Amino acid sequence: MVPMQEVNPWGNELVDYERLFAEFGLQKIPKEIRERFKDSAGFRRGIVFAHRDLDKFLKTADNGKPVAVLSGIKPSSPFHLGSKLTAEEIIFFQKRLRAKAYYCIADLEAYADNGLSLRQSSETAVDNVADLLALGLDDRHAVVYKQSSNAAVLRLSHIFSKHTTLATLEALYGHQNLGLYTSVLTQAGDILYPMLGEEGAKAVLVPVGADQDPHLRFARDLANKLSAEYGFAPPAATYHRLFRALGGGTKMSKRDPANVISLSDSEEDVEKKVKAALTGGRDTAEEQRRKGGDIAKCVVYELMQFHFYEDDADLAKMRGDCTPGKILCGECKAVRLEKIREFLRAHQKKKKTMLAKAGKLVEGA
Ligand code: SF4
Repeated sequence: MVPMQEVNPWGNELVDYERLFAEFGLQKIPKEIRERFKDSAGFRRGIVFAHRDLDKFLKTADNGKPVAVLSGIKPSSPFHLGSKLTAEEIIFFQKRLRAKAYYCIADLEAYADNGLSLRQSSETAVDNVADLLALGLDDRHAVVYKQSSNAAVLRLSHIFSKHTTLATLEALYGHQNLGLYTSVLTQAGDILYPMLGEEGAKAVLVPVGADQDPHLRFARDLANKLSAEYGFAPPAATYHRLFRALGGGTKMSKRDPANVISLSDSEEDVEKKVKAALTGGRDTAEEQRRKGGDIAKCVVYELMQFHFYEDDADLAKMRGDCTPGKILCGECKAVRLEKIREFLRAHQKKKKTMLAKAGKLVEGA
């Protein structure tokens, strides 16, 4: 018998997506939902590839009931492309469904996982929230908070600890230290927090990378156990494919900054990183002209597909140049590098104008 796949939110392994459906009960995004959200490149291109109860969540939103969309960041380093992907998803649902956006600054997790003091986390959080605002979050319809200051979330994590055994945590996350297990309880508090109180949105959607599914399984289980007492309902989730590290072999992780593009990178940093990124280039120029590039292997193509080409025609042109061997990787990288720089220049300019507001939001968080 093939053992179940281990899905580890803290590791850097890639995930076998097909097995997630069979082993953990994820559902494929139905055609009608993909069609409804086809203006989102993530849905249109299958980057958002799976869900749990998204259909029920949409029904609640369509019936005019309050809904919330939730994400967060561990403030341990600058915003990178993985954080950008989830941020764009909550911004999309905030706009499209008028969902209230909850954004959690996971400073307690940054302490448990990275040993960062709350003060250090707070400084990074200002920078991260400025990125979030520059990407388009509407702070008038959002709740931004720090885990360490949110009494309701902390209270929930205590309540959840009474309903959780070490064996459950070990089965979901493997053998970890108590700090990480405590973070998991706090994160379950984050996920169910928008459902609290009379005014609470009983439908919560959490867009995540496929490696974060254990958090969703855990929170959904707690919601079921405590539904009578607190009125919780299992949170819905969407899952996106994991963006590969620039070297290609693992998922992009902030633990490996040389293999990650961050939204704060200088032009020189980005140039170095793109030049070193894995491509599907052949051994010689002659071979590449004859066989074409192996685009399925190419991280540069993935960069454009996940993050920097909004228009499908640009992607089609890239494929059309690569696969018949009309272009070599050096020239191709130079064109894409310019596009990435263009994005970062505009983003960093906008972000500067958001820093004061981000400072206030984090101070009051
Ligand atoms: Fe990738 Fe461009 Fe090389 Fe094709 S030509 S493998 S898309 S870098």
